[in-house]
Amino acid sequence: MEKKHKHFETSVIHEGYDSKEMLGSLTPPLFQTSTYTFDTAEQGERRFAGEEDGYIYSRLGNPTVSVLEERIAALENGERGLAFASGMAAVSAVLIALTKANDHILCSSGLYGCTFGLLTMMEEKYNISHDFSAMETKEEIRTLIKPETTCIYVETPINPTMKLIDLKMVAEVAQEYGIPVVVDNTFSSPYLQRPLELGCDVVLHSATKYIGGHGDVIAGLVVGKKDFLDSVAMTTQKDIGGIISPFDAWLLIRGLKTLPIRLDRHSDNAEKIFEKLRIHPNVEETYYPNDKSHPDYLIRKKQMKRGGGIISFEIKGTKQDAQKLLNSLSFLKIAVSLGDAETLIEHPATMTHAVVPEDSRQAMGITDQLIRLSVGLEAWEDIWADLDQALEKL
Ligand SMILES: *Cc1c(COP(=O)(O)O)cnc(C)c1O
Repeated sequence: MEKKHKHFETSVIHEGYDSKEMLGSLTPPLFQTSTYTFDTAEQGERRFAGEEDGYIYSRLGNPTVSVLEERIAALENGERGLAFASGMAAVSAVLIALTKANDHILCSSGLYGCTFGLLTMMEEKYNISHDFSAMETKEEIRTLIKPETTCIYVETPINPTMKLIDLKMVAEVAQEYGIPVVVDNTFSSPYLQRPLELGCDVVLHSATKYIGGHGDVIAGLVVGKKDFLDSVAMTTQKDIGGIISPFDAWLLIRGLKTLPIRLDRHSDNAEKIFEKLRIHPNVEETYYPNDKSHPDYLIRKKQMKRGGGIISFEIKGTKQDAQKLLNSLSFLKIAVSLGDAETLIEHPATMTHAVVPEDSRQAMGITDQLIRLSVGLEAWEDIWADLDQALEKL
């Protein structure tokens, strides 16, 4: 895709839309329509044959959705973007497109809970196996690649432990074998990290999180090479049908405009909260990609602009103490999801990662004492005051 604007902060507002083509409407209009009329029967025939550009039916394309798809492609520096009804619709469309029965997927050692569930289902139904790797060295990855490996699937930062994986290193190994690397970039958004620029092949998002940013939409996005995305559009998107609604696309176009401003503020707040949590006597361990004493800090410097808004920490105590901490909060919200204006706090072992079997959960570092905090846009002093009084009650 050819980008019109040089700077990210301008692209989030302008890329993929020209008001002159839409009667001067400053914001992209909401095309709330299921289908499109043809002038003649012959025109319908040409559209279906692909001989003439134009919209046919909203599962196959919609002008509001097109603006979003072009914008996200520009922001991730990819050739084409596609929008889906949820992050999981995006994950499943990509994984189904890249595999057939008896193939193998190599994954990072921590995954979003439902992605883990999808992999388990693919194994049970189609014998598509998977292995997990911490991906700390090239050799470690090479030893797990099999002749039937057709995809390397990476989350970084890993949810919820915030460990990082060196994407350039993974992409270099994958290229030796000609295997595509898919990156779930939900935690960073393209403002903080752009996997395609590091040599990865496909990037996907739960746009429900930072891209939407206001806790009012469930959606997913995928960006990559035109050939691959064309094939996804014509198979797992068109025929499985997990498409985004025009209104949700419109909300994401609106949310994207403030992405850089929001993520700078999320990161500023998280840095402050992290410094306080780190030295709190009731906190055992803290995990945040901007921790200068952490070995991953060097990877963070290489591939992420800033640390982002998510902090995980372990309290001193038991599962009951973790629950007591959540119950003692006054205005911070107990909720899964992340990336919203509101600070959200959750207990991964019993919430987002409850579907992961106990032994896998332990291997992923998800203990009963682990808490995930999505630092919001409120004044950091207020966020800390609420957390601090709850920590004092332990
Ligand atoms: C939320 C999330 C998903 C799933 O997205 P939905 O929009 O809820 O379907 C996938 N990956 C990560 C890292 C997430 O946080």
